[in-house]
Amino acid sequence: MKTEHIKITDIVAQENDLSRAADILRAGGLVVFPTETVYGLGGDATRDEAAKKIYAAKGRPSDNPLIIHIAEPSEAELYAKTHELYYKLAKAFMPGPLTLVLKSKGVVCKEAVCGGETLAVRIPEHKGCQQLLKAVNEPIVAPSANLSKHTSPVTAEHVYSDLNGKISLILDGGKCQGGIESTVLDVTGNIPRILRAGLVTKEMIEKVREVEKARGVVTYGV
Ligand code: AMP
Ligand code: MG
Repeated sequence: MKTEHIKITDIVAQENDLSRAADILRAGGLVVFPTETVYGLGGDATRDEAAKKIYAAKGRPSDNPLIIHIAEPSEAELYAKTHELYYKLAKAFMPGPLTLVLKSKGVVCKEAVCGGETLAVRIPEHKGCQQLLKAVNEPIVAPSANLSKHTSPVTAEHVYSDLNGKISLILDGGKCQGGIESTVLDVTGNIPRILRAGLVTKEMIEKVREVEKARGVVTYGV
C-alpha cells in the first residue's frame, strides 16, 4: 500500500484533503491525523474491519481497547451511558486531553473495545482533527500512530517511519503541542480512577469541585 502524506495546517485544513480522508475512513481504511497530544491512527469506530486493520498495522495486542474520538460531548450519548459527572468533566476539560471511560451502549464495533462493556471517549481540541471528525461524521477510533511499544509520535515524519506502507494517508499538521497522551479516567464506578496519567492531572480533576462532592477523591489504579 502506498502511504500518502498531505500537509494540513492547524488553522486551515483544506476541504478536499479532509473529504478524501473522510472517504478513506468511510470505506474502512486508515488515516493518521494530528491531535493536541500525539498523532492518532484512525479508523471508523463502527466497523470491525477498521479496528482489525489498526491492531494489525501497530502490532498491538488485541486485548488492549481503543479510544473513540468524537466532536462534541453530547455525541457520546449515541455510544455510551453518560451521567452528570461526565458532563461536569466534559465542561471543564473537553475538548482537550482527557479521555473518559463510560459504560458502552454496544454501538461501537466489538473489535475496538475488545468485546468489553466500557468505552473510552475523547474530544480532541486540535482544529484539523475537529474538522476531520465533522467531515467524516462518524466516531473515529484511534490509538497513537506508532508501532506497539514504540514512542507515541508527535511528528508526521515519525509516523511515516513507523507505519509507511501500512496506512493510506497521513494528514500532517506539524508538531503536536502536547507530546504526552491524554489522561484516561474511568468514571464507570463511584470513585473516578486514573487508568493512565496524562496532561490532565489528578489535581486538575479534583479542582472540579463537584467531582469531590459527588464522588469522593480521585484514585489511581486499573
Ligand atoms: P493508546 O491507544 O495507545 O493511546 O492507548 C489508549 C489507552 O486507553 C490504553 O491505555 C487503553 O488501555 C485505554 N483504554 C481504551 N479503552 C479503554 C476502556 N474501555 N477501558 C479502559 N481503558 C481503556
Ligand atoms: Mg499508545
